[in-house]
Amino acid sequence: MRYKIRLWFCLLMTTIMMAVQPAFSQTGDVQKLLAALLQDTPLEEDLQELTDQFGGRPTGSEANLKAVEWGVQKFREIGVKAWKEPFEMPALWLEESSELRIHGDVSFAPRVVAMPFSVGTPPEGLTAPLVDGGFGTEDDFTRLGEKARGAFVLVETRELRHLDDLFREYGEAVAIEKRAFAAGVKGLIYMASRPRNLLYRHNASLGPANKHPLLVMEREGAKRVLRLLRAGKQLQATAKIRVKRGGPYTSYNVIAEIKGREKPEEIVIVGAHLDSWDLGTGALDDGCNVAMLIDIARQIKKLGLQPRRTIRFALWNGEEQGIIGSWKYTEQHEKELDRYVMAASFDIGSGRITGFFTNGRSELLTAVEKALEPVAGLGPFTHINEPLVGTDNLDFMLQGVGNLVANQESANYGPNYHARSDTYDKVDLRQLRLNMLIAAAVTYGFAEMDVTWGRQSYEEVKKLVETTSLGDQLKGMGMWESWAKGLRGRRPGK
Ligand SMILES: [Zn+2]
Repeated sequence: MRYKIRLWFCLLMTTIMMAVQPAFSQTGDVQKLLAALLQDTPLEEDLQELTDQFGGRPTGSEANLKAVEWGVQKFREIGVKAWKEPFEMPALWLEESSELRIHGDVSFAPRVVAMPFSVGTPPEGLTAPLVDGGFGTEDDFTRLGEKARGAFVLVETRELRHLDDLFREYGEAVAIEKRAFAAGVKGLIYMASRPRNLLYRHNASLGPANKHPLLVMEREGAKRVLRLLRAGKQLQATAKIRVKRGGPYTSYNVIAEIKGREKPEEIVIVGAHLDSWDLGTGALDDGCNVAMLIDIARQIKKLGLQPRRTIRFALWNGEEQGIIGSWKYTEQHEKELDRYVMAASFDIGSGRITGFFTNGRSELLTAVEKALEPVAGLGPFTHINEPLVGTDNLDFMLQGVGNLVANQESANYGPNYHARSDTYDKVDLRQLRLNMLIAAAVTYGFAEMDVTWGRQSYEEVKKLVETTSLGDQLKGMGMWESWAKGLRGRRPGK
């Protein structure tokens, strides 16, 4: 096994060095770093530890706390200064167990999981008629009329294959939940959008403010229910949902730092999130990128490199529950944000990095191109200058800090997203290593290069929200309020 890995690395290294060498035009430091990252580093071992030993790591869980300690330890054992930064999570939510029994004309028990921020039920369960909610459209609820009131409404979904489907799914859920609650449903049940009994969970649109039982039912079971209902059978459902809910509590981001040699006060921050949902082990989302950043820090330190600017590595927490950790970080570090040159996020699994979202900051486009020169052989890269809402760049963007999100081939990210199947074996380790070269080149490149941009003013951020898709995306993700009320992002007069 070991032999095979070695051979694999030799082959890989030859191929990659051939691919990247002609394009080397930056400092020798980047070259050294890239060569080191192609060696047999502990990237895979770190990822295995994080995913297999701690498992799923929802913020608020024991596993999450262990992962935080692990993250700090990983940086410290390689001699990189690291610490945890406490912040307050708004509300605790963890699933203990969920089950659903269908009875009436036909009885069976399809598998279900609770959606985050679902309420629990009494121990004896909650029983209500089960009705066909179609796709949860306006017409569907009109058709249901009074039948929706006091019922469990089962909503059909289209199959999720790609990342784009995911954004559609999130957007639709906001509208569906609004209609369902207005119709007075007892609870809402989504047909899983992934086949083969795969279960997953993602946030209720109202987050901690949700007051209803919300479930995801295995796709095949849900299809059976709908066929039965459409054949005129009368069905009832009894849901037993046990969740741990609570008020605010403390969580932690892990921050590590390599001080700059020339402009230590200027900061390049690169992040991936440490937390995950707990059905799988959070390997694609986002353990692989956590391990990748740790390895980049390790090699920079090992080589004794010191970039011009300070590089901070952030292992964010509370991302899955509303992008909380990075939001709180931008509040806690508000005073230093003028000195941030760039904030990058890596959060789309291990598919090939195809370029970067520059999030409405066209001035970053040439800079990214320049930073990517040493790894041009791993391209071509295409960048998208549109704001992206959905991960930890968000609050940097709303604070006016230049920010990037690695755009990646969706590969197997969508089908395994937040699902039981998001485990170590799904990670494309070869591609992850190549992505690591790209991430390292961009991080180090931005820490070295001369820059032309600064932090945007409130007016400029506001313009970005108003003139791009950013506003609609915030609405689609249920985050508009927090921006409009001045809870997130840059405040007027600053
Ligand atoms: Zn993620």
